[in-house]
Amino acid sequence: MTRVSADLKSIARALPVATSPKPGNDALAGCPVHELRAKLRRSGLRPTRQRVALGWLLFAKGDRHITAERLYEEATGSRVAISLATVYNTLHQFTQAGLLREIAVDGSKTYFDTNTTKHHHFLIEDTNQLVDIPDDLVEILRVPQALDGMEIASVDVVVRLRRKA
Ligand SMILES: [Zn+2]
Repeated sequence: MTRVSADLKSIARALPVATSPKPGNDALAGCPVHELRAKLRRSGLRPTRQRVALGWLLFAKGDRHITAERLYEEATGSRVAISLATVYNTLHQFTQAGLLREIAVDGSKTYFDTNTTKHHHFLIEDTNQLVDIPDDLVEILRVPQALDGMEIASVDVVVRLRRKA
């Protein structure tokens, strides 16, 4: 008995120690809904049912660019009872909390980007689809001085693409 437990101890010592990639991992880590609730809380947002439902549609499918109208269609298609106004409000709350980046492509279309790291975009004109351009592929050579009393917050490049004739 003693011998067996001693063997187990030496085996345990020989095994590589499992290291968590980031702090805060717990028994429920890996449960997507739990992680989504934790993500909302970390951003200072109470994980209400509607925020979790929209967060699920936004963040569970990898990086995406989506308009409020499209997200509203997805929500109602998934039988989430929600108004377009609530979708707008929630998207702006997520943006203010740093979970989304807002991209105004022209006067009428605003996209919400789940990739909040610094990057630029292709806009495919006939489909209105945004495609990420890594930051290091765009070199901005000259930017005018900010207006008096202001500073440049960011410079976003949208490269418009159309199909060759
Ligand atoms: Zn993007």
